[in-house]
Amino acid sequence: MPYSNLQNLIPDYIKKFEAYTPSKPDDILCKTFHCPHLYRLNNNENPLGPPQASQKIIKEFLPFKASVYPSGDSYHLRSKLGDKFNLHHDQFLVGNGANELISFVIKAFCEKGDNIVTADKTFAVYEWVAEFSGFQSKLVPLLNYGFDPEGILNAIDNKTKIIFICNPNNPTGTYWDTTTLTNFLDRVNGRQIVVLDEAYFEFVDKEDYPNGMNLIERYPNLVVFRTFSKMYGLAGLRVGFLAGTIDVVDTIRKTCVVYSVNVLAQEAATAALDDDTHIYKTRNLIKTEKNFITEELSRLGVYHISGEGCYLMFKLPISDTLAYRKFITQGIIIRSMTGFRFPNWIRVSISTHQIMEKFIDTLEKILKKRV
Ligand SMILES: *Cc1c(COP(=O)(O)O)cnc(C)c1O
Repeated sequence: MPYSNLQNLIPDYIKKFEAYTPSKPDDILCKTFHCPHLYRLNNNENPLGPPQASQKIIKEFLPFKASVYPSGDSYHLRSKLGDKFNLHHDQFLVGNGANELISFVIKAFCEKGDNIVTADKTFAVYEWVAEFSGFQSKLVPLLNYGFDPEGILNAIDNKTKIIFICNPNNPTGTYWDTTTLTNFLDRVNGRQIVVLDEAYFEFVDKEDYPNGMNLIERYPNLVVFRTFSKMYGLAGLRVGFLAGTIDVVDTIRKTCVVYSVNVLAQEAATAALDDDTHIYKTRNLIKTEKNFITEELSRLGVYHISGEGCYLMFKLPISDTLAYRKFITQGIIIRSMTGFRFPNWIRVSISTHQIMEKFIDTLEKILKKRV
């Protein structure tokens, strides 16, 4: 195909868009950097893995079932969600990770000329999906590392269809308390769809932290996202869900492709919902290790911000991309934050004590220029 023809076929917003480059698989990275093993501290995965009940499902999965299409609307998983959150099962939509749900919502509500509003330093997928779908994303600067309600309200115009709020925010760990959130929703007053991304909901143990599920009835423009990738340790199976009023969810469902959530993911996720012990165990681990790592960072004189979620962020006296390369030669993958518009900051997922010790040890060597 002549190059000029291809260029004529590509919309400008696709030409402009810079594709995300995923990291290479562990075996390839280990070979390249000569490290015997690799600790991935870049994706906020649960170091304890999936709950026991999900592990049992995965171990006992009958291979023949792989040849049969899954339930097209995750029937049993949605019934279980309905019971758990005391909502109707049709108020849920399950997707191939919460990432897929972002594009469903944007497809359902945005048309030519529309925009979305979110923060400039948050989960980047909202902005990416909007941009490569041809919609503007209006990015409001964080205020004290958190979402700025006033700034967001000011950014809304008559072409704004969706507002994305990440609560707690990835990567800063800040959150809106119940009053901040309800005041904000009162002032949006139903003019836009408000997506409340609660990917780290199960990690937060604070009195004033709002549960989006309980606000849907009062705010029918609210859409709540949850995922099985973080607390429930099922990131590799790809399953997340959204909840909203029946009318809103019926609208979003029109844009979703059936069968995108596989059989094993549906079964493992359904089983995971019963296991609260897994949540307590994970929370304890995160709390202990976060304390350990923040004390160590203070000892090393490294400026850090530690909030909710299973990660924390800190600023280095060297370039974050250089730090990334140094860490990987020592068998550790971190998230360099230039891509999140936090140059020279890195984000690290909290893991087991042994891995956190190795991380601090490596950081100390890097800071003392010994690697
Ligand atoms: C990880 C994450 C998601 C997406 O998770 P999936 O694996 O696609 O379910 C969504 N939002 C935030 C803020 C996240 O950190």
